[in-house]
Order: sequence, then structure tokens, then C-alpha cells
Amino acid sequence: MIIKQCLDCRKDFKIDCAPGDPFLCLGLVCEPCIETRERAAIAARAKLELRSKFRRAVLMGELPADFRDTRFTLSDLAKERTNAGAWALARRWTGESNLYLHGDIGTGKTWMGLCCLHAQFVDGADCVFISARQLLKDSELFKEEIFKRVKAADFVLLDDIDKAGVNSRRIEALWEFFDSREREKKRTIITANIGAVDLSKHLARCGGANSSMAVSIVDRINPVQVLKLTGPSLRG
Ligand SMILES: [Zn+2]
Repeated sequence: MIIKQCLDCRKDFKIDCAPGDPFLCLGLVCEPCIETRERAAIAARAKLELRSKFRRAVLMGELPADFRDTRFTLSDLAKERTNAGAWALARRWTGESNLYLHGDIGTGKTWMGLCCLHAQFVDGADCVFISARQLLKDSELFKEEIFKRVKAADFVLLDDIDKAGVNSRRIEALWEFFDSREREKKRTIITANIGAVDLSKHLARCGGANSSMAVSIVDRINPVQVLKLTGPSLRG
């Protein structure tokens, strides 16, 4: 047994070894400080992994380039004041239900949705941001792989569902998307300019011969938490 001074905390500590032991040189830091160093190394590795996860997702076009900064801690509290209730609920969203964010253009729906998505992303979930229009384009022939990939992500932010360019063919893809996600219990954050009742009517109108699918689609968005955003446009 010998006494040494810890390099980190400068406190004396005992090492269980005989003088001249080749392992003596290893005992430069006390037990608690070894643990602290290990924790720090694990945290540093996790940070690096998260950074490369961000980079990969942005490179793949699955998340917007500024996704790293779209988080609650960087949100403008002055702008949130217009919709304080909705923001409080969004911050508390656990990812167990879908989210339907609706309101006029420029009220911050997409930003709010990205903040919610960000929270899931840093928690380790597989996340994709895509406009509804792009998703339905990707559902067409030759792009099925992308459609399948988005459909299977843990969390999808589907932007502007009411601007998806739905027609009698594409409404089937939209149904398939929500049907699959409901079955797999994957959650979707949806943004729209219109409320859920109007969405059903809108999809029925666009769906032509397949208009009956509209109700079925809206039905599959359950369980859902609906947040309405109001106020003047925050843009510009
Ligand atoms: Zn120490």
C-alpha cells in the first residue's frame, strides 16, 4: 500500500500495491476521478456521434441544413408569446401521439414541428423532415425506396399536408403512409394551414374517384394532439 496524490483532485489516495510494482504508474488518478474521466469520455463520444448523425441526415437530405439550431432552447420566447399555450404543450410532447399543427402561413408551425422533432432526434430516434408534396412525388415509380424509408422512420415531420398535390392516385400513397405508421406506432408531426375537419374535406375533394379514402386517412392520424397557432405572420 502506498499513498499518492491524485493528478485531478490533488487529494491523497491509497494504492494497493507494493513499491516497485509495474502497475504503480497507472495509479495517477484516484478512483472517483477515474470514474469522472470515464463519464467525460462517454459524453464526448456521444456528442461526436450525435454530430455525425446530424451531418449524415443533412447529407442524405432527410433533415434541413439548419436542423441543429431548430430547438426549444433557441426558440424566440417573444414570438412564442402569441401562442404561449400551444408552445407549452409542444414542449411537453413526449412523442407518444401524433401532432397536428395548424394555423395561417408564418405562425411558426414548421419551426415548432422541427423543435419537437429535434427533441426526439437527440434522444436517439430516427427522424425525417419532408414536405407532403415531396413525399407523394417519392411514392411514384422508381422512387419507392425513398418512400419506404420515410414511411419507416421513427418520427416524420410531414410539412404542409394540405399542399401535397393529392389526386386520385396519390391519395392511395398518403393512405398507405398513415396506415403503415399507425400499425407500426410510428409518430408523425403534421403541419397544415387548415384544421383536421377541413383537411378531410380537402382530401376528399382532391381524391376524385378515391375520395372515400380521405376519412380513412384522417382517422389514421389518431391518436393525435392538435395545436392551433394564431397571430400575425412572424416571417419577414
Ligand atoms: Zn482524484
